[in-house]
Amino acid sequence: MILTACALTDIGLRRKNNEDCVFADPDNGLFIVADGMGGHLAGEVASQLAVDTLRDHLPPRTSVPEDAAICLQQAFLAASRSILQAATADKSRRGMGTTLSVLYLDNGIAQLAHVGDSRIYRLRGTDVEQLSIDHSLVAEQERKGLISPEDARNSQLRNILLQAVGLENKLDVFRLRLPLQPGDLFLLCSDGLSDMLDDEQIGDLLRRNLSVEQTASQLIEAAKTAGGRDNIGVVVVKIAD
Ligand code: CA
Repeated sequence: MILTACALTDIGLRRKNNEDCVFADPDNGLFIVADGMGGHLAGEVASQLAVDTLRDHLPPRTSVPEDAAICLQQAFLAASRSILQAATADKSRRGMGTTLSVLYLDNGIAQLAHVGDSRIYRLRGTDVEQLSIDHSLVAEQERKGLISPEDARNSQLRNILLQAVGLENKLDVFRLRLPLQPGDLFLLCSDGLSDMLDDEQIGDLLRRNLSVEQTASQLIEAAKTAGGRDNIGVVVVKIAD
């Protein structure tokens, strides 16, 4: 399986620090976006801890057992435990947490694991689809039909998460296992991208068929042009045709 990938993050135009952490390891098929939260630089600590723990807990690709999904679930729980421990050890970091969106590719299979409101999209042919679901209050209300997509988009409550890594020992990790197809393009991103650009704008950019580096930097530039209110983290992964 030949693939190219690019991970980029940008502080945006309004924030004083960058709490997004992005990671791409094409050799091991591992790609991560984490968007941390918590005051006094704690958000940065949480997202970095999540990425480091995940990386350490997943075996190298050559030795991945059949059930990568179980490894991912355990890695998420380990990440949550390390953040909780770090938060307990330092009062200024209490309550820190992070979103965590992971794409793990092996043997023609994509494994997705995700908690929070960062997102994983896939472009296949000309179809762009959000594969992850947002663990946010408004997204859940929208899924239940209680509010319209537009209400969800404009809600003051849109940043309230239903769960985050590091805040509790129990996690309901969203998981999906999909066969890969040649030409598939994946985008992992933080809400600093998806709050600034709607799915159509993101889709238009993905369909331009640029290099992964150009796609990643154009997504970030577009989010900044649209206001850049938050940190922007993107990982673009392209499976060769
Ligand atoms: Ca964010």
